[in-house]
Amino acid sequence: MTVPMNKVIPFRRPSLKEKARGRTLCGSGFHKWRIDNKKQFDVKQGRLVTIHRCERCGETKSTLK
Ligand SMILES: [Zn+2]
Repeated sequence: MTVPMNKVIPFRRPSLKEKARGRTLCGSGFHKWRIDNKKQFDVKQGRLVTIHRCERCGETKSTLK
């Protein structure tokens, strides 16, 4: 069985949409957090904190260990 050459498969271009979706998620506070390997010492609290960085927008947050 042969596939007709003129059959056009709808081309999906997700890149822009995906990026926009990611930005929307970040804007809504749903960041894609990844733990930054660098451990930081919070001088104010005198404790070790873990830095989380968002893969999409680069925002950072820290949590106390
Ligand atoms: Zn983000």
